Amino acid sequence: MAVQTVTELKMFIGGEWVGSSSGEWIDVLNPATGELVGRVPAGTEADVDRAVRAAREAFRDGRWRSLWTPQRVAILNKLADLIDEHTPELAELETAQTGTTLKLRRDSDIPFAADNLRFFATSIRHLEGKAAGEYSTDHTSMTRREPIGVVGQIAPWNYPFMMAIWKIGPALAAGNSVVLKPATVTPLTTLKLVELAHEAGLPDGVLNVVTGRGEVVGAAMAAHPDIDLISLTGDSETGRKIQQLASGNLKRVHLELGGKAPFIVFDDADLDAAARGAVTGGFVNAGQDCTAATRIYVQRGVYDEFLAKLKGYSEQVRVGDPTAATTDMGSLINAAQLARVEGFVERAKQAGARVVTGGSRADVPGQSGSFFQPTVIDHLDQDAEIVQKEVFGPVLTVLPFDTEDEVLEKANDIRYGLASSVWTRDIFRAMRAAKTLNFGAVWINDHLPITSEMPHGGFKQSGFGKDMSMYSFDEYTQVKHVMIELTGVADKGWHYTIWGDAKE
Ligand code: NAD
Repeated sequence: MAVQTVTELKMFIGGEWVGSSSGEWIDVLNPATGELVGRVPAGTEADVDRAVRAAREAFRDGRWRSLWTPQRVAILNKLADLIDEHTPELAELETAQTGTTLKLRRDSDIPFAADNLRFFATSIRHLEGKAAGEYSTDHTSMTRREPIGVVGQIAPWNYPFMMAIWKIGPALAAGNSVVLKPATVTPLTTLKLVELAHEAGLPDGVLNVVTGRGEVVGAAMAAHPDIDLISLTGDSETGRKIQQLASGNLKRVHLELGGKAPFIVFDDADLDAAARGAVTGGFVNAGQDCTAATRIYVQRGVYDEFLAKLKGYSEQVRVGDPTAATTDMGSLINAAQLARVEGFVERAKQAGARVVTGGSRADVPGQSGSFFQPTVIDHLDQDAEIVQKEVFGPVLTVLPFDTEDEVLEKANDIRYGLASSVWTRDIFRAMRAAKTLNFGAVWINDHLPITSEMPHGGFKQSGFGKDMSMYSFDEYTQVKHVMIELTGVADKGWHYTIWGDAKE
């Protein structure tokens, strides 16, 4: 059942629900049906400034970072409990604004987001670091891990709620204040999140949400002189712009960008498991996933057998109404994304590629949205546009290979470096591949699973900085060295190197 009513939500700044200083609104449409599901303020530079001032004030007076640790843990855990309680409603809203399946939202990314938050809530109870000690003999040295200050966070539209949690979880646990911008087209569940955070007891000003357009709100955040760290999950081109804008006050930059994951099937692999893994890994969230399995490399001896299995399973994927329990793949995010995906496939066909299955728009009765068929394409070169560029849709490209060295080189021959997988029963080969693949994640005999305890993040033009795990927590902190003189002696033996003569 789709969310029928139009949800009109304001931005949340300094503990208050506010409209935009421009008075303008942005319509949020259901990508599957074209219906209006919500309306949010079109934030401005002035709104960003207001949110940054609220966040700075909250940081300066320590209302959050200086709160008794058990209270901070309790508030974040309470928020996780509220997410659990509201999962059905959040999942419906997420499906309504993204057009992808309700079963994925309800049973996967929203419950997982609650787990991510619980991980960060408790992480602050057992921080680790270098042991305090007398490294210089006459001083005790210790380190402190401190929040950075005001953190700006910009989220994408593919997993709007989960991405918001990946951002605010470590930032808040570390004691920062946050200004968060959801993607222009998917702000609704983020505004529900901040409502729940308020209910959980998060002090005013600690988490502020400004809705609006990337080039306006996102750019103002990236350039703002009083934001200390800017974090983006989005396209690599957007990452480049953010990095430039952030240079004004040399703010820290945390970038989770695009991907183009290789999926390598050796001839000793369980081909059935690999074909199932490719369909799951490639068509998750209608292929709008930064870790999606998109470049399938298959060893020549098993190519035909694997391709037949891949085709068979791909054709079982049911495209349709995202709210139906029997639908596996819903709509793409909008007509522009549909045209983009279609353009990639058409150009590949014109260049001589073979469409193994799919390859065009899907007609879904009763839905006017942006549906594309699960698509498998082969007869491609390594340097083909569709092999090298991120399509961000349900399109798998398949290429044959002969040797291990050849496939590892081809897998690494890409500007991205986020995720990869290897399918083999040979542990030696698997370990060599794990070492050689230049990606932030390597799966052996699987593709997609992630866990709160382990880092997620890219190499190369997939960005830098990690999400989830203590590595992500560390990104939102800075390390301070405190050195305490132990002798009380005024005239130190080494002073002469700067001032006066050496003592005999
Ligand atoms: P996008 O870059 O278009 O938008 C991401 C966010 O940046 C949005 O909030 C948008 O409003 C904002 N933005 C856009 N232009 C901006 C500008 N000039 N200045 C400041 N902010 C701006 O990306 P998208 O289309 O929303 O998301 C898809 C992309 O995100 C894909 O490339 C995907 O691979 C990537 N992604 C990466 C990860 C990861 O963990 N590495 C996870 C999810 C998505």
